[in-house]
Amino acid sequence: MKQVHNFNAGPCVLPRAAVEKTAQALLDLNGSGMSLMEISHRSKDFEAINNECIALWKELLGIPEGYHVLFLGGGASLQFCMLPYNLLGKKAAYVESGVWAKKAIKEAKFFGEVSVIASSSDKNFSYYPAIPAIPGDVDYLHITTNNTIYGTEFHGSIDSSPVPVVADMSSDIMSRPVDVSKYGVIYGGAQKNVGPAGVTFVIVKEALLGKVQRAIPTMLDYRTHVAEKSLFNTPPVVAIYAMCETLRWIKAQGGLQAIAKLNRQKAEALYSYLDNESKMFVGTADKASRSLMNICFVMTEKYKDKEEEFMSAAKAAGMVGIKGHRSVGGFRASTYNALPLASVQALVGCMREFEAKFA
Ligand SMILES: *Cc1c(COP(=O)(O)O)cnc(C)c1O
Repeated sequence: MKQVHNFNAGPCVLPRAAVEKTAQALLDLNGSGMSLMEISHRSKDFEAINNECIALWKELLGIPEGYHVLFLGGGASLQFCMLPYNLLGKKAAYVESGVWAKKAIKEAKFFGEVSVIASSSDKNFSYYPAIPAIPGDVDYLHITTNNTIYGTEFHGSIDSSPVPVVADMSSDIMSRPVDVSKYGVIYGGAQKNVGPAGVTFVIVKEALLGKVQRAIPTMLDYRTHVAEKSLFNTPPVVAIYAMCETLRWIKAQGGLQAIAKLNRQKAEALYSYLDNESKMFVGTADKASRSLMNICFVMTEKYKDKEEEFMSAAKAAGMVGIKGHRSVGGFRASTYNALPLASVQALVGCMREFEAKFA
């Protein structure tokens, strides 16, 4: 197979072992003579996968009692609506730290009053805004822990009690340990750090449910999926299987402490090149807010006209997915869990070589 360095922002690189095991299960699941795609989601085989996957979520993140782990469809984007449907009675506070946060805010407004208590839109979301005191009259505070497009990440710790914190962790879930007890809900699409597209994880605190007065359609009511262990309707069986294999791989790496250490090394390799060595490339995110998952950089004024040339050189060297999002421009290297340190070193090598040609 062709060797590439996959810096895609999502869907993105997955552990090779997870891809291979899923491919095998698609051909013949556990020697059953049937494909993973051909079995009942109520079969013993799938029940075991579903249960193991829930158990791995709980184990890896140390999820305390009183929380449920749900696997749903619809992506993080459906959670932008499902969450306020279930939790927003009158008013909620939101932090506007990027485009995904803006989308979450837009949907919440269908259900009640939204107070945007912090925003970094004044500088094109290049920093993570400081979170002020949380108003006491809100049902929850919503944050986006990693802003995939701008390469900023929430590095603070938050304790908003008695107001629950709700977090979209689509792009930094399982990249480091998280104290789940500080959150009311954590959700995200799986397709960045924990699996392929098609499954959405929701970790929800039991005590927050059933408080809003409105009627909730069955499929959009968290309680439905809690009661049925996410098997109310046919779940995305293949995506859940691949997620389970991805979590097994994380566990085999030594869990989230070990993963976080590797993620820091990868980010450090690229950021230190940008900060200490390069005259040609410069990071776009405020240093204190930098993401360990999505590293955004552009060319300095002097070399702006070299962007396309660098893109071709990087492509020829096997770099995939480093084009920056159109709202930031330049380049973005996503360094999710499954990306090896060697890929970051290869990218830095490629940048260094390109720079040497012009220095
Ligand atoms: C990718 C992403 C989303 C969107 O996820 P979907 O599963 O495509 O709906 C939402 N929030 C963040 C932070 C993301 O990175």
